[in-house]
Amino acid sequence: EPATAAIPEVGLEDLRLGRPHSARMYDFFLGGKDNYEADRKAAIQALTVYPGIITLARENRSFMHRAVRTLAEAGIRQFLDIGTGIPTSPNLHEVVQSVAPECRVVYVDNDPLVLAHAQALLDSTPEGRTAYLRADGTDPKSILSAPELTSTLDLSQPVAISLCAVLHFMPDDRDPYGVVRTLLDAVPSGSALTISHATPDFDPVATAKAVEIYRASGTPAQVRTRAEVERFFAGLDLIEPGLTVAHRWRPYESSARLHVLARETMTDAEVSLLAGVAFKP
Ligand code: SAH
Repeated sequence: EPATAAIPEVGLEDLRLGRPHSARMYDFFLGGKDNYEADRKAAIQALTVYPGIITLARENRSFMHRAVRTLAEAGIRQFLDIGTGIPTSPNLHEVVQSVAPECRVVYVDNDPLVLAHAQALLDSTPEGRTAYLRADGTDPKSILSAPELTSTLDLSQPVAISLCAVLHFMPDDRDPYGVVRTLLDAVPSGSALTISHATPDFDPVATAKAVEIYRASGTPAQVRTRAEVERFFAGLDLIEPGLTVAHRWRPYESSARLHVLARETMTDAEVSLLAGVAFKP
């Protein structure tokens, strides 16, 4: 890939290829090729205790597509995606720019490997704009004031903030509720919040074992109950069907008919991911 001025060089030592990383484990679960031996080893351990994790990963990605498409169709033109992950086609900007080419998207992730692949996130339509920011989601003030964000998004206009499959990597001691509140306080009425979050509600034993594997490999993780995930949406208006297991969130608004059929055989325990979209009043 050609280097561009927009993307700083990533040093090989930054990538810490000898240690498992959540973004690369997720890439493995999605069937991607941007993962290494240590990632696959930890991923297979997680799969052994919780085989549903592959279904979780795929349903998470599909929910994100349906959610941001819904928001673009509702008229939102600005998106802030925190915990973007390794690029996987289609990426968020491809989905929303297919609805409205003028959409603007800021991607944020703290993993240097995502940065190394960020070029794929910057192929915006000419009418729109995309930017990539390497930052920690637990420091929302630095995200909101970063030049990559302020030169791409107009915070006086509605912004759809997405935190898909990332808040469960922010344990309570990282103040994830404060993170979400700070982000929402910075955007106007008419903005939106999209969240997907792993839950112990349906298979507490398997999800607890998976959390242990992430923690043992150096990634802090915390699954949350329905009531705990609902708290992220305090003061917002959830749109239909409310907070639900990801494969039940507007399942028929997918273009892939085979996928729609497959969803009918999925169980809540396999998916174990709560998902919702809400507007700021
Ligand atoms: N949102 C994407 C990817 C989910 S995988 C999707 O739904 O398909 C979780 C991603 O969150 C990984 O890329 C990981 O690097 C990132 N992540 C984890 N903790 C983070 C943090 N504190 N700040 C920013 N990104 C984080």
